[in-house]
Amino acid sequence: MRILLWDIDGTLIRSTRPGGYKEYTIPVLEELFGTAGQLADLHVSGMTDMQIFIEALGNHGVTHDHLRERLAVLSERLTAEARKVTGNGVTFFELLPGVRETLEALDRHPRYRSALLTGNIEPMAQLKMELVGLEQFFTLPGAFGDESHNRRDLPALAADRIRKHLQLDLAPEQFIVIGDTPNDIDCARHFGARAVAVGTGRFYSNEEIRRHAPDKFLPDLTDVDAVINTLDEL
Ligand SMILES: [Mg+2]
Repeated sequence: MRILLWDIDGTLIRSTRPGGYKEYTIPVLEELFGTAGQLADLHVSGMTDMQIFIEALGNHGVTHDHLRERLAVLSERLTAEARKVTGNGVTFFELLPGVRETLEALDRHPRYRSALLTGNIEPMAQLKMELVGLEQFFTLPGAFGDESHNRRDLPALAADRIRKHLQLDLAPEQFIVIGDTPNDIDCARHFGARAVAVGTGRFYSNEEIRRHAPDKFLPDLTDVDAVINTLDEL
């Protein structure tokens, strides 16, 4: 058995408005902390939301503890603002090519189960999956960006939950992280999982992402048979 740990942004979906994340996040940080700090200038790709908040607000006296204390209200406000700004997502998020077909094929395949492993806070991850109609494919518990400021922590969190959920003693190399940034590859390595990079992210060229030596590279997910043959080798 192999467990697929899917990144969301740049891997399954993308926002049709570049920088859309900042559109709904900046007003919420301003409302709760009086400032969005450096967020407008941050390059957030591959970072967890906690890490983004810390980096944006760290110079403005907002500590990890402040963030933890306000995380529940922050999550709630962000999700509400995202729903508003995206007009319920109808035109704001788009599925990347081949994603639905790939997830459907994997869903029927006995070797694979899927979970989310994303820098998004959990309610935003759920909202995005609901808006693009993918929520039924992630039947295992995952790990999310409100759980750590370091993406490297996320695979172990997801793996512990999945082992308990399935009551199986799964080895790290039975997990495959699929993502579009060097941080996805790095967090897989840190845990001992396999890494599959996709070339559909906005911020790295195929050459750049391949330089980080993923176990496998897929330019996109349009060729379902090729995707499954590639995963079958891991
Ligand atoms: Mg991504």
